Amino acid sequence: MSNSKPLIPFLDLHKINSRYHEKFKSLFSDFLDAGSYIKGSQVTLFEKSFAESCEVDFCVGVGNGLDALTLILKGYIELGKIHVGDEVIVAANTFIATILSVKYAGLIPVLVEPDERTFNLDIHKIERHITDKTKVIIPTHLYGQLAEIEEIIEIANKHNVLVVSDAAQAHGARHKELGIAGSLCNASAFSFYPAKNLGALGDAGAITTNDKALIEIVKCLGNYGSSEKYKNDYVGVNSRLDELQAIFLLEKLKYLEQDNIKRRQIAKRYISEIKNEKIILPFWDGSENHVFHLFVVRVKNRIDFCDYLKKSGVGYHIHYPIAPHQQNALKEFAELSLPITEKIHKEVVSIPLNVSLENDQIDRIIEVLNQYQ
Ligand SMILES: *Cc1c(COP(=O)(O)O)cnc(C)c1O
Repeated sequence: MSNSKPLIPFLDLHKINSRYHEKFKSLFSDFLDAGSYIKGSQVTLFEKSFAESCEVDFCVGVGNGLDALTLILKGYIELGKIHVGDEVIVAANTFIATILSVKYAGLIPVLVEPDERTFNLDIHKIERHITDKTKVIIPTHLYGQLAEIEEIIEIANKHNVLVVSDAAQAHGARHKELGIAGSLCNASAFSFYPAKNLGALGDAGAITTNDKALIEIVKCLGNYGSSEKYKNDYVGVNSRLDELQAIFLLEKLKYLEQDNIKRRQIAKRYISEIKNEKIILPFWDGSENHVFHLFVVRVKNRIDFCDYLKKSGVGYHIHYPIAPHQQNALKEFAELSLPITEKIHKEVVSIPLNVSLENDQIDRIIEVLNQYQ
């Protein structure tokens, strides 16, 4: 394996955004002329456009994805639908933000094992964790694939609990009967962190819902608990979507659907052309329920595999190397036995899948994975 081969980066954000550079420069110039920096017209326009793209009535922009989740939960507390100390079911292998949001809202996270095949909440293990205190289930659509939302909603209805989705990795993912991410649950949280399928040029996030009471309260909570200037009804925070980020996001939103199509095309090639017993490919039913935010394979000997990728010039990442219950920050879960979660965290490797990949790079990635011994 020659080292002179050009490195295929895991993700080249500069290249991904370069196709917008000229447009962004002219939009930035308009922004300077307008002189409106916070809560301007473009935030409102983005909220409207994003709500439309998610096929919901309401959207409110916030500072980031973590705040989107936290504000939804705090909103339900203010509405009296849930109470501090209630339990919230989350996938044990989610990104830590899901769990942190539950803690920030004063609720208790209950970690449930994922399905090894889909990496999403194991619907057969949810009910055994439901108690009198369970008030919310938060499915994460991990790596861009919708959780088994139909079954989760059925369980939630049976036990009278809310469903809030962590859709931070799933912009545009569509269930063939139920609809699109952002519209499937009581409320949904999105992140526009630069690396996401819809990424800003900094931090940004949003909440979508059809619940008018909830949207009014989260809007207020993210703006110092104030709906009218200098009149504060709640102990709120400062978490607003920046006007400038809204401008960039409005432009990029136009291309989200075609980008997701391209991501699925690359995934389709990987799944049909990577043939190596040592590499377990991700499960996908071939529908639009997956937007391949990440293409995550599993291998038994990860150190060896990653060494090989490095030598072969193929970038990679690990999402995520340490399970939440094994993090120093979450010592209260250290005693939990979560064998599936632990196994997943030992075996996963994300290989490059993004809209800036060229065909020859995709060919090369397939070739490198097929030659791994
Ligand atoms: C990115 C992400 C978040 C948090 O989003 P930020 O904008 O970084 O706060 C939450 N959940 C998941 C699953 C994510 O991937």
